[in-house]
Amino acid sequence: MVDLRGQYLKIKDEVDAAMQAVVDGTSFIGGKAVADFAEHLSRYVGGCPAVTCANGTDALQIALMALGLKPGDEVIVPAFTYVASAEVIGLLGLTPVMVDVDPRTFNVTVDNISRALTDKTKAIIPVHLFGQSCDMEPILRFADEHQLYVIEDNAQAIGAEYTFADGHKAKTGTMGTVGCTSFFPSKNLGCFGDGGAMFAHDETLCERLRMIANHGQRVKYHHDIIGCNSRLDALQAAVLDVKLRHLDDYCSARRQAAHYYTERFKAFDPEEACLLTPVELPQSTHVYHQYTLQVLDGRRDALKAWLAERGIPSMVYYPLPLQEQEAFKKIARAAEPLTVSKRLAGSVLSLPMHTELTREMQDRVIDAVIEFFKHGR
Ligand SMILES: *Cc1c(COP(=O)(O)O)cnc(C)c1O
Repeated sequence: MVDLRGQYLKIKDEVDAAMQAVVDGTSFIGGKAVADFAEHLSRYVGGCPAVTCANGTDALQIALMALGLKPGDEVIVPAFTYVASAEVIGLLGLTPVMVDVDPRTFNVTVDNISRALTDKTKAIIPVHLFGQSCDMEPILRFADEHQLYVIEDNAQAIGAEYTFADGHKAKTGTMGTVGCTSFFPSKNLGCFGDGGAMFAHDETLCERLRMIANHGQRVKYHHDIIGCNSRLDALQAAVLDVKLRHLDDYCSARRQAAHYYTERFKAFDPEEACLLTPVELPQSTHVYHQYTLQVLDGRRDALKAWLAERGIPSMVYYPLPLQEQEAFKKIARAAEPLTVSKRLAGSVLSLPMHTELTREMQDRVIDAVIEFFKHGR
Protein backbone atom coordinates (compact mmCIF):
# COMPACT_ATOMS: atom_id res chain seq x y z
CA MET A 1 0.00 0.00 0.00
CA VAL A 2 2.88 2.35 0.82
CA ASP A 3 6.64 2.33 0.19
CA LEU A 4 8.20 4.22 3.08
CA ARG A 5 11.59 2.63 2.51
CA GLY A 6 11.78 3.64 -1.15
CA GLN A 7 10.82 7.20 -0.21
CA TYR A 8 13.45 7.31 2.55
CA LEU A 9 16.26 5.99 0.34
CA LYS A 10 15.82 8.90 -2.08
CA ILE A 11 16.42 11.47 0.67
CA LYS A 12 18.56 9.31 2.95
CA ASP A 13 21.54 11.66 3.08
CA GLU A 14 19.43 14.68 4.00
CA VAL A 15 17.39 12.80 6.61
CA ASP A 16 20.38 11.03 8.17
CA ALA A 17 22.30 14.30 8.49
CA ALA A 18 19.33 16.05 10.10
CA MET A 19 18.82 13.20 12.59
CA GLN A 20 22.54 13.03 13.38
CA ALA A 21 22.54 16.77 14.12
CA VAL A 22 19.81 16.23 16.73
CA VAL A 23 21.73 13.33 18.26
CA ASP A 24 24.92 15.41 18.38
CA GLY A 25 23.06 18.32 19.97
CA THR A 26 21.25 16.02 22.49
CA SER A 27 18.20 18.35 22.64
CA PHE A 28 15.74 15.50 22.25
CA ILE A 29 12.58 17.22 23.45
CA GLY A 30 11.76 20.70 22.16
CA GLY A 31 14.67 22.90 21.14
CA LYS A 32 15.68 24.30 17.79
CA ALA A 33 14.68 21.37 15.56
CA VAL A 34 11.06 21.54 16.75
CA ALA A 35 10.91 25.35 16.61
CA ASP A 36 12.41 25.41 13.11
CA PHE A 37 9.99 22.81 11.83
CA ALA A 38 6.97 24.63 13.33
CA GLU A 39 8.08 27.82 11.61
CA HIS A 40 8.61 26.12 8.25
CA LEU A 41 5.30 24.29 8.54
CA SER A 42 3.51 27.55 9.25
CA ARG A 43 5.16 29.14 6.22
CA TYR A 44 4.18 26.15 4.08
CA VAL A 45 0.48 26.53 4.91
CA GLY A 46 0.55 30.22 4.05
CA GLY A 47 1.51 31.77 7.38
CA CYS A 48 -1.10 30.31 9.74
CA PRO A 49 0.74 29.69 13.06
CA ALA A 50 1.50 26.03 13.81
CA VAL A 51 1.72 24.32 17.21
CA THR A 52 3.29 20.86 17.20
CA CYS A 53 2.15 17.95 19.37
CA ALA A 54 2.59 14.21 19.79
CA ASN A 55 0.09 12.87 17.23
CA GLY A 56 -3.01 13.74 15.23
CA THR A 57 -5.45 12.37 17.80
CA ASP A 58 -3.93 14.58 20.50
CA ALA A 59 -4.18 17.53 18.12
CA LEU A 60 -7.95 17.03 17.90
CA GLN A 61 -8.25 16.53 21.66
CA ILE A 62 -6.18 19.60 22.50
CA ALA A 63 -8.22 21.68 20.04
CA LEU A 64 -11.45 20.66 21.80
CA MET A 65 -9.89 21.32 25.22
CA ALA A 66 -8.68 24.76 24.17
CA LEU A 67 -12.15 25.80 23.03
CA GLY A 68 -13.51 25.14 26.51
CA LEU A 69 -16.34 22.79 25.52
CA LYS A 70 -18.34 21.30 28.41
CA PRO A 71 -19.96 17.88 28.92
CA GLY A 72 -23.31 17.88 27.15
CA ASP A 73 -22.07 20.09 24.33
CA GLU A 74 -22.63 18.51 20.93
CA VAL A 75 -19.95 18.18 18.29
CA ILE A 76 -20.93 17.26 14.73
CA VAL A 77 -18.70 14.65 13.09
CA PRO A 78 -19.04 12.47 9.99
CA ALA A 79 -19.87 8.79 10.55
CA PHE A 80 -17.51 7.79 7.73
CA THR A 81 -14.03 8.60 9.04
CA TYR A 82 -11.18 7.23 11.11
CA VAL A 83 -12.19 6.67 14.73
CA ALA A 84 -9.94 9.41 16.10
CA SER A 85 -12.13 12.19 14.66
CA ALA A 86 -14.96 11.17 17.01
CA GLU A 87 -13.08 9.39 19.79
CA VAL A 88 -11.73 12.64 21.24
CA ILE A 89 -15.27 14.02 21.49
CA GLY A 90 -16.30 11.06 23.65
CA LEU A 91 -13.08 11.14 25.64
CA LEU A 92 -13.83 14.69 26.80
CA GLY A 93 -17.39 13.79 27.76
CA LEU A 94 -18.89 15.72 24.86
CA THR A 95 -21.58 14.25 22.63
CA PRO A 96 -20.62 13.13 19.12
CA VAL A 97 -23.46 13.84 16.72
CA MET A 98 -22.94 11.79 13.61
CA VAL A 99 -23.84 12.93 10.14
CA ASP A 100 -23.67 11.27 6.75
CA VAL A 101 -21.30 12.14 3.90
CA ASP A 102 -21.51 12.84 0.20
CA PRO A 103 -21.48 9.52 -1.70
CA ARG A 104 -18.98 10.73 -4.32
CA THR A 105 -16.45 12.80 -2.34
CA PHE A 106 -16.76 10.85 0.96
CA ASN A 107 -16.85 14.22 2.74
CA VAL A 108 -19.47 15.93 4.90
CA THR A 109 -21.40 18.75 3.26
CA VAL A 110 -23.22 21.71 4.75
CA ASP A 111 -26.52 19.89 4.09
CA ASN A 112 -25.47 16.99 6.31
CA ILE A 113 -24.26 19.38 8.98
CA SER A 114 -27.35 21.56 8.95
CA ARG A 115 -29.57 18.57 9.73
CA ALA A 116 -27.65 18.00 12.98
CA LEU A 117 -27.95 21.47 14.46
CA THR A 118 -29.53 21.80 17.92
CA ASP A 119 -29.20 24.46 20.61
CA LYS A 120 -26.45 22.31 22.14
CA THR A 121 -24.28 22.23 19.03
CA LYS A 122 -20.94 23.90 19.72
CA ALA A 123 -18.54 22.65 17.07
CA ILE A 124 -18.16 20.83 13.78
CA ILE A 125 -15.30 18.52 12.82
CA PRO A 126 -15.16 18.37 9.02
CA VAL A 127 -12.72 15.65 7.92
CA HIS A 128 -10.86 16.16 4.64
CA LEU A 129 -11.08 12.46 3.92
CA PHE A 130 -8.64 10.63 1.65
CA GLY A 131 -6.85 13.91 0.81
CA GLN A 132 -9.58 16.13 -0.56
CA SER A 133 -10.90 19.28 1.08
CA CYS A 134 -14.52 19.36 2.19
CA ASP A 135 -16.49 22.07 0.40
CA MET A 136 -15.55 24.52 3.14
CA GLU A 137 -17.05 27.83 2.08
CA PRO A 138 -20.69 26.89 2.82
CA ILE A 139 -19.60 25.04 5.96
CA LEU A 140 -17.72 28.07 7.25
CA ARG A 141 -20.68 30.34 6.46
CA PHE A 142 -23.04 28.01 8.32
CA ALA A 143 -20.67 27.85 11.30
CA ASP A 144 -20.44 31.63 11.33
CA GLU A 145 -24.22 32.06 11.25
CA HIS A 146 -24.68 29.66 14.16
CA GLN A 147 -21.53 30.57 16.09
CA LEU A 148 -19.97 27.14 15.90
CA TYR A 149 -16.30 26.31 16.13
CA VAL A 150 -14.83 24.50 13.13
CA ILE A 151 -12.07 21.99 13.85
CA GLU A 152 -10.67 20.69 10.59
CA ASP A 153 -9.41 17.11 10.71
CA ASN A 154 -6.63 17.54 8.18
CA ALA A 155 -4.77 14.32 9.05
CA GLN A 156 -5.13 13.01 5.49
CA ALA A 157 -4.97 16.18 3.42
CA ILE A 158 -1.93 18.25 4.31
CA GLY A 159 -0.88 20.14 1.18
CA ALA A 160 -4.37 20.25 -0.33
CA GLU A 161 -5.76 23.62 -1.28
CA TYR A 162 -9.30 25.01 -1.39
CA THR A 163 -10.42 27.85 -3.64
CA PHE A 164 -13.16 30.21 -2.40
CA ALA A 165 -15.76 31.71 -4.74
CA ASP A 166 -13.87 35.02 -4.83
CA GLY A 167 -10.79 33.19 -6.09
CA HIS A 168 -8.67 33.27 -2.95
CA LYS A 169 -7.05 30.01 -1.96
CA ALA A 170 -6.30 28.47 1.43
CA LYS A 171 -4.48 25.34 2.50
CA THR A 172 -6.63 22.76 4.28
CA GLY A 173 -6.19 23.04 8.03
CA THR A 174 -6.07 26.84 7.97
CA MET A 175 -9.72 27.65 7.24
CA GLY A 176 -11.45 26.71 10.49
CA THR A 177 -11.00 27.77 14.11
CA VAL A 178 -8.31 25.11 14.54
CA GLY A 179 -6.82 22.74 11.98
CA CYS A 180 -5.34 19.42 13.11
CA THR A 181 -2.95 17.16 11.30
CA SER A 182 -1.03 13.93 11.84
CA PHE A 183 2.50 12.92 10.91
CA PHE A 184 1.91 9.18 11.33
CA PRO A 185 4.45 7.47 9.03
CA SER A 186 2.00 6.60 6.26
CA LYS A 187 0.34 10.03 6.14
CA ASN A 188 1.22 12.33 3.23
CA LEU A 189 3.77 14.10 5.44
CA GLY A 190 4.89 11.32 7.76
CA CYS A 191 7.72 11.03 10.28
CA PHE A 192 9.48 7.96 11.69
CA GLY A 193 7.07 7.52 14.58
CA ASP A 194 4.16 9.60 15.89
CA GLY A 195 3.72 13.33 15.42
CA GLY A 196 1.02 15.94 14.97
CA ALA A 197 0.29 19.64 14.69
CA MET A 198 -2.44 22.22 15.07
CA PHE A 199 -2.99 25.44 13.13
CA ALA A 200 -4.86 28.52 14.34
CA HIS A 201 -4.88 32.13 13.17
CA ASP A 202 -5.91 33.49 16.58
CA GLU A 203 -2.74 34.14 18.62
CA THR A 204 -4.53 33.77 21.98
CA LEU A 205 -5.95 30.42 20.91
CA CYS A 206 -2.52 29.33 19.67
CA GLU A 207 -1.07 30.14 23.06
CA ARG A 208 -3.75 28.00 24.73
CA LEU A 209 -3.04 25.11 22.35
CA ARG A 210 0.67 25.42 23.11
CA MET A 211 0.04 25.52 26.87
CA ILE A 212 -2.37 22.58 26.90
CA ALA A 213 0.09 20.46 24.92
CA ASN A 214 2.66 21.26 27.61
CA HIS A 215 0.93 20.60 30.98
CA GLY A 216 -1.00 23.86 30.90
CA GLN A 217 2.11 25.90 31.61
CA ARG A 218 3.48 29.03 30.01
CA VAL A 219 6.25 29.43 32.59
CA LYS A 220 7.94 26.20 33.68
CA TYR A 221 6.36 24.72 36.84
CA HIS A 222 3.52 27.28 36.77
CA HIS A 223 0.40 25.47 35.62
CA ASP A 224 -2.47 27.82 34.75
CA ILE A 225 -4.82 25.31 33.17
CA ILE A 226 -5.19 21.52 32.99
CA GLY A 227 -3.25 20.26 30.04
CA CYS A 228 -1.49 17.13 28.93
CA ASN A 229 1.92 15.96 27.82
CA SER A 230 1.85 15.99 24.04
CA ARG A 231 5.16 16.82 22.41
CA LEU A 232 6.67 16.34 19.00
CA ASP A 233 10.17 15.05 19.66
CA ALA A 234 13.19 16.61 18.03
CA LEU A 235 14.17 13.57 15.94
CA GLN A 236 10.72 13.52 14.36
CA ALA A 237 10.85 17.27 13.78
CA ALA A 238 14.21 16.87 12.02
CA VAL A 239 12.79 14.18 9.71
CA LEU A 240 9.67 16.24 9.04
CA ASP A 241 11.64 19.38 8.30
CA VAL A 242 13.47 17.54 5.51
CA LYS A 243 10.33 15.86 4.16
CA LEU A 244 8.36 19.12 4.22
CA ARG A 245 10.72 20.42 1.52
CA HIS A 246 9.57 17.53 -0.66
CA LEU A 247 5.88 17.67 0.21
CA ASP A 248 4.76 19.46 -2.94
CA ASP A 249 6.61 16.87 -5.04
CA TYR A 250 5.03 14.10 -3.00
CA CYS A 251 1.58 15.60 -3.57
CA SER A 252 2.11 15.82 -7.31
CA ALA A 253 3.45 12.26 -7.48
CA ARG A 254 0.29 11.07 -5.74
CA ARG A 255 -1.93 13.15 -8.00
CA GLN A 256 -0.20 11.84 -11.12
CA ALA A 257 -0.53 8.25 -9.98
CA ALA A 258 -4.22 8.80 -9.16
CA HIS A 259 -4.89 10.38 -12.53
CA TYR A 260 -3.24 7.44 -14.26
CA TYR A 261 -5.44 4.97 -12.35
CA THR A 262 -8.55 6.95 -13.25
CA GLU A 263 -7.60 7.41 -16.89
CA ARG A 264 -7.05 3.70 -17.40
CA PHE A 265 -10.23 2.72 -15.54
CA LYS A 266 -12.20 5.21 -17.65
CA ALA A 267 -10.95 3.57 -20.84
CA PHE A 268 -12.30 0.27 -19.57
CA ASP A 269 -15.80 1.71 -18.96
CA PRO A 270 -15.97 1.34 -15.21
CA GLU A 271 -19.66 2.21 -14.97
CA GLU A 272 -20.69 -0.89 -16.80
CA ALA A 273 -18.58 -2.84 -14.35
CA CYS A 274 -20.21 -1.05 -11.41
CA LEU A 275 -16.93 0.58 -10.44
CA LEU A 276 -16.69 4.20 -9.35
CA THR A 277 -13.39 6.06 -9.47
CA PRO A 278 -12.72 9.02 -7.12
CA VAL A 279 -13.98 12.46 -8.11
CA GLU A 280 -12.28 15.81 -7.62
CA LEU A 281 -14.17 18.96 -6.72
CA PRO A 282 -13.20 21.89 -8.98
CA GLN A 283 -12.59 24.02 -5.87
CA SER A 284 -10.19 21.58 -4.21
CA THR A 285 -6.89 19.99 -5.07
CA HIS A 286 -6.98 16.33 -4.12
CA VAL A 287 -3.71 15.08 -2.61
CA TYR A 288 -4.81 11.43 -2.65
CA HIS A 289 -3.87 10.15 0.76
CA GLN A 290 -5.91 7.22 -0.54
CA TYR A 291 -7.07 6.26 -4.01
CA THR A 292 -10.46 4.79 -3.21
CA LEU A 293 -12.75 2.91 -5.57
CA GLN A 294 -16.37 2.00 -4.94
CA VAL A 295 -17.48 -1.45 -6.03
CA LEU A 296 -21.23 -1.20 -6.50
CA ASP A 297 -22.18 -4.76 -7.41
CA GLY A 298 -21.56 -6.23 -3.96
CA ARG A 299 -18.31 -7.91 -4.97
CA ARG A 300 -15.89 -5.65 -3.09
CA ASP A 301 -14.58 -8.44 -0.85
CA ALA A 302 -14.24 -10.79 -3.83
CA LEU A 303 -12.18 -8.17 -5.67
CA LYS A 304 -10.00 -7.67 -2.62
CA ALA A 305 -9.40 -11.44 -2.39
CA TRP A 306 -8.71 -11.65 -6.15
CA LEU A 307 -6.07 -8.94 -5.84
CA ALA A 308 -4.52 -10.57 -2.77
CA GLU A 309 -4.20 -13.88 -4.68
CA ARG A 310 -2.14 -11.96 -7.23
CA GLY A 311 0.07 -10.39 -4.58
CA ILE A 312 -1.61 -6.99 -4.83
CA PRO A 313 -2.47 -5.25 -1.56
CA SER A 314 -5.67 -3.29 -1.14
CA MET A 315 -7.41 -1.96 1.98
CA VAL A 316 -10.89 -1.16 3.21
CA TYR A 317 -10.98 2.29 4.78
CA TYR A 318 -13.26 1.94 6.71
CA PRO A 319 -15.08 -1.37 7.16
CA LEU A 320 -17.45 -0.14 9.92
CA PRO A 321 -19.08 3.28 10.02
CA LEU A 322 -18.82 4.95 13.41
CA GLN A 323 -22.49 4.46 14.27
CA GLU A 324 -21.85 0.70 14.25
CA GLN A 325 -18.78 0.86 16.48
CA GLU A 326 -19.50 -0.55 19.93
CA ALA A 327 -17.68 2.32 21.65
CA PHE A 328 -20.07 4.92 20.26
CA LYS A 329 -23.37 3.17 20.69
CA LYS A 330 -24.02 4.56 24.16
CA ILE A 331 -22.62 8.06 23.75
CA ALA A 332 -23.33 9.19 20.20
CA ARG A 333 -26.45 10.42 18.47
CA ALA A 334 -27.16 10.00 14.76
CA ALA A 335 -28.57 13.17 13.22
CA GLU A 336 -29.80 11.42 10.08
CA PRO A 337 -30.08 7.81 8.81
CA LEU A 338 -26.34 7.51 7.83
CA THR A 339 -27.20 5.24 4.91
CA VAL A 340 -24.36 6.52 2.71
CA SER A 341 -21.76 5.79 5.40
CA LYS A 342 -23.12 2.28 5.82
CA ARG A 343 -23.12 1.67 2.06
CA LEU A 344 -19.60 3.02 1.64
CA ALA A 345 -18.29 0.74 4.38
CA GLY A 346 -19.44 -2.17 2.23
CA SER A 347 -18.25 -0.87 -1.13
CA VAL A 348 -14.98 1.09 -0.78
CA LEU A 349 -11.61 -0.35 -1.70
CA SER A 350 -8.36 1.62 -1.60
CA LEU A 351 -5.59 0.68 -4.02
CA PRO A 352 -1.84 1.08 -3.46
CA MET A 353 -1.09 4.80 -3.34
CA HIS A 354 2.24 6.38 -2.48
CA THR A 355 5.03 8.53 -3.86
CA GLU A 356 7.11 5.68 -5.28
CA LEU A 357 4.52 4.02 -7.55
CA THR A 358 5.72 3.30 -11.06
CA ARG A 359 3.58 2.90 -14.15
CA GLU A 360 4.52 -0.80 -14.20
CA MET A 361 3.26 -1.33 -10.66
CA GLN A 362 0.07 0.54 -11.43
CA ASP A 363 -0.47 -1.41 -14.64
CA ARG A 364 -0.28 -4.65 -12.64
CA VAL A 365 -2.92 -3.37 -10.23
CA ILE A 366 -5.17 -1.97 -12.95
CA ASP A 367 -4.91 -5.06 -15.17
CA ALA A 368 -5.83 -7.27 -12.24
CA VAL A 369 -8.89 -5.13 -11.40
CA ILE A 370 -10.05 -5.11 -15.02
CA GLU A 371 -9.42 -8.84 -15.31
CA PHE A 372 -11.64 -9.38 -12.26
CA PHE A 373 -14.56 -7.54 -13.80
CA LYS A 374 -14.12 -9.35 -17.12
CA HIS A 375 -13.51 -12.88 -15.88
CA GLY A 376 -13.60 -12.97 -12.08
CA ARG A 377 -16.17 -14.75 -10.02
C1 LIG B 1 -4.57 9.34 11.12
C2 LIG B 1 -5.79 10.08 11.42
C3 LIG B 1 -6.01 10.69 12.67
C4 LIG B 1 -5.13 10.48 13.87
O1 LIG B 1 -3.79 10.70 13.72
P1 LIG B 1 -2.73 9.94 14.66
O2 LIG B 1 -1.49 10.70 14.42
O3 LIG B 1 -2.67 8.53 14.20
O4 LIG B 1 -3.21 10.06 16.06
C5 LIG B 1 -7.14 11.45 12.85
N1 LIG B 1 -8.05 11.59 11.86
C6 LIG B 1 -7.89 11.01 10.66
C7 LIG B 1 -8.93 11.22 9.61
C8 LIG B 1 -6.77 10.22 10.40
O5 LIG B 1 -6.64 9.63 9.21
